[in-house]
Amino acid sequence: MVFERVGSPLVERAVEKPTAGEGQLLLEVLACGVCRTDLHIVDGELDRPKQALIPGHQIVGRTDDGRLFGVPWLGWTCGTCGFCRSGRENLCDNARFTGYDIDGGFAEWTVADARYCFPLHPDWHPLEAAPLLCAGLIGYRALRLVGDAERLGLYGFGAAAHIVTQVARSQGRRVFAITRQGDDASQSFALELGAEWAGSTEPPEELDAAIIFAPAGELVPRALSAVTKGGVVVCAGIHMSEIPAFSYDLLWGERTLRSVANLTRRDGDEFLELAPRVPVKTHTTAYPLAQASSALADLRAGAVQGALVLVP
Ligand SMILES: [Zn+2]
Ligand SMILES: [Zn+2]
Repeated sequence: MVFERVGSPLVERAVEKPTAGEGQLLLEVLACGVCRTDLHIVDGELDRPKQALIPGHQIVGRTDDGRLFGVPWLGWTCGTCGFCRSGRENLCDNARFTGYDIDGGFAEWTVADARYCFPLHPDWHPLEAAPLLCAGLIGYRALRLVGDAERLGLYGFGAAAHIVTQVARSQGRRVFAITRQGDDASQSFALELGAEWAGSTEPPEELDAAIIFAPAGELVPRALSAVTKGGVVVCAGIHMSEIPAFSYDLLWGERTLRSVANLTRRDGDEFLELAPRVPVKTHTTAYPLAQASSALADLRAGAVQGALVLVP
């Protein structure tokens, strides 16, 4: 499924089967998660994708000798810039991303640099493992950045929040889910997964931290006003609408506002080791590969709970 231009649906195309170069794996795609970042690409909010791009960066694929691998967003880093050399390859100046700079997993076959693929346990179901590779990884990195916060607010309850809730609960944190007004389905879903409160207004008590998954800048002052002194607000999306001006009072009291960008391979190793121990149980809705555009439309509409996954 090929992204050709902003504003038009992905196009089903017969393309040549890729061949693995030096250090690459040729993978038969078994499942590929759909992420909000894919929407930002097709909507033109991330505006430098490769030409005739095959999107998709939560790939579970199989080599011809039967080994299972996960391919995440981080597809390549230079290893020599200051960020790479200081353990921050997620910020690499020259990074290349799967399903953006490099063709991704909305396809039957893909190739990926073996050094950035994660070996997956053969028992893992591809459909259930796919959302761990971005929703899970980015959620985990965002959760790490809130430190030991006990009362955690999650703004936007999609694929990432449904995984973070499970991890946070297993760590003894209390979870408060803030959704769009009238989104009763997401609110019940959050409660089922262990959130102690779900609603569209401010939570009933102060938060120690908040993670904003929804790409809505107006949530930033709202989240800052909900966290207590010394609290942190993490913006976990790659794109957000403009943040409205807000009073310094909201930041005063040593509150921290920060973003989380991409992932390091270390995040992946840690999270994929942790997930089965929680255990994280992903809720997925499968779509045939050819219906990638419907999956994107459903994601945009918030019509599906949990994670959306394409299956070739
Ligand atoms: Zn993603
Ligand atoms: Zn670098």
